[in-house]
Formats: sequence, structure tokens, C-alpha cells
Amino acid sequence: MIIVLLGPPGAGKGTQARQIQERYGLPQISTGDLFRAAMGSESPLGRSVKDYIESGRLVPDEVTSAVVAERIAQPDCRKGFMLDGFPRTLPQAQALDALLAARRLPLDAVLYFDVTDAVAVERLSGRRTCGRCNANYHVQHMPPKKAGFCDRCGGALTQRPDDQPETIRKRLEVYAQQTRALVAEYDRRGVLYRIASDEAPEKVTASVFAILDKIWARRSRP
Ligand code: AMP
Repeated sequence: MIIVLLGPPGAGKGTQARQIQERYGLPQISTGDLFRAAMGSESPLGRSVKDYIESGRLVPDEVTSAVVAERIAQPDCRKGFMLDGFPRTLPQAQALDALLAARRLPLDAVLYFDVTDAVAVERLSGRRTCGRCNANYHVQHMPPKKAGFCDRCGGALTQRPDDQPETIRKRLEVYAQQTRALVAEYDRRGVLYRIASDEAPEKVTASVFAILDKIWARRSRP
């Protein structure tokens, strides 16, 4: 099964991706996580994307699509994968089409997490992220058991530098300008599933599983 998670920053894509990964065993490919890991290791890729990420702008399409191409060629993606935060522009969607066509793979579903700006801002400004395993928390809605530390791996929780108010505003603006068009494009192709994502995470997960269970059953049929 190959799926894309689409929606503005703060829609809950990362949180839902973890639930999907657990239930269906699909590796989560988050371009944001890949870029942050590259920045952490100060690789040439990390140095080249730093300014874009810290200012909330998009990393150029060619760079992003090359990172995804390399990642989906890994053995763990052979049985399917989930893209979280890619594609974000029409050229990236075309690059994905080409990557899938070269492997004769279908895109099974695009899950569109629809959220209002107010909820997105509230989620992002309260978000805390584990520096070790990337798990996300929220200071009010999903606090860790021990303040400041990850429940899963014990890593220290920090606020992402791009989760500051000014950068959040910029990222939402970039989404409206460059990514929203993809909703119409995938809808036209008949692969888009809209999910009301202002709800609590567990409710959103139930909607996601209801959709994916059907697709999964269809895909598993001989
Ligand atoms: P995210 O973790 O998905 O919120 O992404 C964090 C930042 O990484 C974004 O604000 C962009 O600067 C960059 N980024 C992540 N995915 C992409 C993408 N598909 N295209 C361009 N830039 C991206």
C-alpha cells in the first residue's frame, strides 16, 4: 500500500503517521524528519536546507524529490510506504508520479487532513518533539508522563525552532500558496480522502483506519 498524507502544518500528519505505521507496518517517510536528521549530522544536505527550514520556506523541489527517490529505494519500502509531508508542490507530485511509474506502483490513497488555521496554530505552538525518536507531544493535549522527556525512549523534548509564531505563520502561508493546489489535483484523480482533523487525535485515527482498512483488504485480495 502506498499512501500520501497531505494537509497543512499542524494538521496532525506526524501523529497519525505513527498510528498507521503501527497498524499496517508501513514505513513513514517524512521529508521534514529526513531534513532535520541531515541538519543534525551537519551533512552537505543538512547545510543546504537549513536556511529554508528555519525560515519556514520550502526546500527546492529537485533537492526534496532526490531525497525521496533515495529513501524509497531502500529495502524496507519494497512492500509499500507512507509519505508524510511530500509532495508539497505540483512539480513534486509529478516527480512522485515518475518514481511510482518507474516501479509500476499505484498510489493507493491521499489522506487529506483538513484543519482550521486556529487549531493548526494552537497545536504547533504547544508541540514538543523528542530529539531522539521524533515522537511528538503537546504541552496540554498530549503531555508526556514525565515533563520534558519522551515516554517512548526517554529522550529530551524540545520545541522545534520552526514552531515559533512567526515561522508558523509563514509555513501556513506557504501551504496556502503552494500545497493546497494538490488537494484539487488528487481529488480530480479520485484518490483523495478528506478527514476532518480538528477533532481529538483518537477520533481522527478511527476515521483513518476506517478508510485504510478497506484499501488494505482490497490490496490483499489475490
Ligand atoms: P515538516 O516537518 O513537514 O513540517 O517540514 C519542516 C520543513 O521542512 C518545512 O517547513 C520545509 O522547509 C521543509 N520541507 C519538508 N518537506 C518538504 C517538501 N516536501 N518540500 C519542500 N520543503 C519541505
